Amino acid sequence: MPTISKVVENAICVGCGACSVRTDGAIPVRLNRDGYFSADLSGVDQPTLARASQVCPFAHEAADEDAISKAVIEPSPFTDSRIGRYRTIHAGRTASSDYLQGSSSGGLTSWMAGRLLEAGEVDGVIHVGRGDDGLFCYQLSHSLQALRAQRKSAYYSTTLAQVLQQIRGDERRYALVGVPCFIKAARLLCLEDPVLDRQLVFFLGLVCGHLKSAAFAELLAWQTGVAPDELEAVDFRVKAPDRDAGQYDFGALRKGSTEWLTRPTQSLRGGNWGHGMFQLNACNYCDDIFAETADVAFGDAWLPQYRQDWRGTNIVVTRHAILQRLLEEGFAKGEIELEELSADDASNSQGGNFRHRREGLAVRLADDISHGKWVPNKRVLPSVTAVTTQRLALIRNRRLISEASHALYRKARERSSLSYFLDNIEPYVRRYERCSRPAFYKRLYSRLKRYFSAAGKRVYG
Ligand SMILES: Cc1cc2nc3c(=O)[nH]c(=O)nc-3n(C[C@H](O)[C@H](O)[C@H](O)COP(=O)(O)OP(=O)(O)OC[C@H]3O[C@@H](n4cnc5c(N)ncnc54)[C@H](O)[C@@H]3O)c2cc1C
Ligand code: SF4
Ligand code: SF4
Repeated sequence: MPTISKVVENAICVGCGACSVRTDGAIPVRLNRDGYFSADLSGVDQPTLARASQVCPFAHEAADEDAISKAVIEPSPFTDSRIGRYRTIHAGRTASSDYLQGSSSGGLTSWMAGRLLEAGEVDGVIHVGRGDDGLFCYQLSHSLQALRAQRKSAYYSTTLAQVLQQIRGDERRYALVGVPCFIKAARLLCLEDPVLDRQLVFFLGLVCGHLKSAAFAELLAWQTGVAPDELEAVDFRVKAPDRDAGQYDFGALRKGSTEWLTRPTQSLRGGNWGHGMFQLNACNYCDDIFAETADVAFGDAWLPQYRQDWRGTNIVVTRHAILQRLLEEGFAKGEIELEELSADDASNSQGGNFRHRREGLAVRLADDISHGKWVPNKRVLPSVTAVTTQRLALIRNRRLISEASHALYRKARERSSLSYFLDNIEPYVRRYERCSRPAFYKRLYSRLKRYFSAAGKRVYG
């Protein structure tokens, strides 16, 4: 049986929509009752499922990130098991303060997409912005103005199903912006589909911790005083000049109002990414942090020397000569600021991510296998022995929070009761925090150690 069926049966579908595009819509991808997209395989025959399996990022029939990057990424001078192939690694940001204000981090993702448009390398950019269908969706931008109007991170479930079917065959060239599994899915599609292969010419990856269902935006907004039915728009990354870059605000806009209500994200239940609330189950089975199949990857430089600056700093990993050149030209013209980093720096900037997605993944795979569950093929081996007992408990408790958050939020919505959610999620959070405390102090100690040794060496500029 094609393993895409196992992906969907086990709720490992991330909703990317590659199966839908590959089968000309025979497999619909719909928003489910928990607020994330997933494929509906009912009534689909075996040959169609077999075609879809080849492009599903979690199916056994699809190539993994190493094989895809070998096939599609230009030979690169460096390879690192944490980052993939790469040419250069930098910390950086756009030089314009106004531009930075409207971006999530250093603004280099939208800057790079804009440079591709300006340089005539592409006719359009496929990226996520505010939409009519839910708060966010994939859309097309053909001008700098349209592209720049839709910046900042959307921690929100979307799908490529419609937009890729829309552009397929229009003879135009596009850059695609996406989280690593979406980039992988699009690469797999291109390997099977010569039309899309000619059209998708640049892949801009976003470093990814995990994806959230629509409930994440709703819960945070609800806590700022905007109930789900009144919610017009959200802003996941409002920069706060009096705090460090990681302590940004969340903003919510009520229908019919022009006044954004903001609260520090960390002060809201669900705002702590370590808790994994509303994380998609697919993300429990993912080992790609730096979008290894993308031509370039952008993330936040979560290193002490950059975190201090509230304006935000990107980490940028290039894997394509043209993108490397555009970056270097931007630096030479003073449009952007750049500073070289090492692979260790890049990896340290995503410490929690690696713990969750490498050692955490090993534990989750081992747990599932011991319960007789089907699991996708991963580059990480199943193991419960690679972590301390404390860490083991933390990994398992985070998974329980994720699972419980979806069901509890559904009930909270039915009852129109925010406190139903907050009261019932609390015991899960307390259990998690009991086992995270010693690990937190250990991490704080090593972070301070890194900070004081780096402070002497680096000055940003
Ligand atoms: C789900 C998710 C999880 C993330 N997790 C991490 C993490 O753990 N660590 C980390 O360092 N960085 C993470 N990032 C990346 C980070 O939030 C910033 O998006 C990144 O640093 C780029 O910032 P920027 O200022 O360069 O982007 P901007 O200049 O603001 O431009 C962002 C561009 O990305 C597009 N975009 C936004 N959201 C999406 C989306 N969901 N799918 C496709 N396109 C999108 C926008 O349309 C815009 O073109 C995550 C991003 C997402 C979407
Ligand atoms: S291709 Fe994407 S949408 Fe389809 S089943 Fe796989 S993960 Fe889900
Ligand atoms: S964590 Fe992995 S599976 Fe989840 S959205 Fe990010 S790239 Fe996709």
